[in-house]
Amino acid sequence: MTELKVLEGKKLTVIGYGSQGHAHTLNLKDLGMDLTVGLREGSKSWEEAEKAGVKVKKISEAVKDADVVMFLTPDEAQPAVYENHVKDNLKEGAYLGFAHGFNIHYKKIVPAGKVNVFMVAPKGPGHMVREIFEKGHGVPCLTAVYQDISGDTKEVADAWANGVGRKVGIIETTFKEETETDLFGEQAVLCGGVTELMQAGFDTLVEAGYNPEVAYFECVHEMKLIIDMVYEKGFAKMRDSISNTAEYGDYVTGKKIITDKTRETMKQVLGDIQNGQFAKEFIDETETGYKFMKGERSKYSDSKIEEVGSKMRQMVFKGSAKNHM
Ligand code: NAD
Ligand code: MG
Ligand code: MG
Ligand code: MG
Ligand code: MG
Ligand code: MG
Repeated sequence: MTELKVLEGKKLTVIGYGSQGHAHTLNLKDLGMDLTVGLREGSKSWEEAEKAGVKVKKISEAVKDADVVMFLTPDEAQPAVYENHVKDNLKEGAYLGFAHGFNIHYKKIVPAGKVNVFMVAPKGPGHMVREIFEKGHGVPCLTAVYQDISGDTKEVADAWANGVGRKVGIIETTFKEETETDLFGEQAVLCGGVTELMQAGFDTLVEAGYNPEVAYFECVHEMKLIIDMVYEKGFAKMRDSISNTAEYGDYVTGKKIITDKTRETMKQVLGDIQNGQFAKEFIDETETGYKFMKGERSKYSDSKIEEVGSKMRQMVFKGSAKNHM
């Protein structure tokens, strides 16, 4: 992998060993890179990383002699970690990397002029980034450069992406574009949009007196089957595969569910991401100790849909070692 040459001989540090952290670390380590993980003293991940054969140091020590530092703690923890452990230890000309542009774009972290700043955002959850790599494939990555004092920050970002994602593909972006599209996608479509859509469908059927188990299969379980077809072959091939009855219903009903009003709301959601309102509200929430989020989590964990889902998964995945969901 000649594209990785720019990282060879450099000391690489990954801060954090969570979802993305373990994936970046283990993928690059498997490719023979010299890598250290930086963690808080007493971190639960410490032992886990050492068990995987990774060098672990406390964050300030891991940053001190590093050429490239990839920052993979939760976004809301990054500003304090940066202030207390990273800022004064970063050497001049070091490359500071992120997997999401939030803190740089919203200026919660303003890096010193003496460092390079880049992004490698793998397009997949961390555990998938690792699993797919272990199977010999990779996920595509977005890359961006925010600050380039050494003149080769793009090469460093591309090399990191090629390592973590096994050269599957790089899409160039900016911190602004990645931050705003990532937040919009997860809120309006992937997480917020999809879960509320499944929930509303399930509730409609159950309230009308249908069997919750049947409702769960129709509105939740089968989502994966349809999405897998879209993922692998696109919309047209998915529609080819479903019955004509389903395809006709798709065309006539889809636009009654996602209406002009929904699209208008999407624009407002995007506006609040662009003007920083969402970022402000999220940071306020973290400062309450996640009061709202904790309430939502317990509401959902006690819900009918989860109760039925748990039963259905036991049936569907009986005898299989792995939870496919
Ligand atoms: P995570 O919550 O899985 O991992 C957190 C890691 O940071 C853990 O090792 C934990 O020990 C450490 N940590 C937690 N709080 C800390 C603190 N206060 N101080 C120091 N260390 C702390 O994080 P993640 O979901 O992997 O996200 C990391 C970055 O990757 C974020 O910028 C996120 O937006 C981005 N990202 C994540 C995913 C994903 O799949 N989860 C996908 C794309 C981008
Ligand atoms: Mg989480
Ligand atoms: Mg995303
Ligand atoms: Mg995100
Ligand atoms: Mg059906
Ligand atoms: Mg068909």
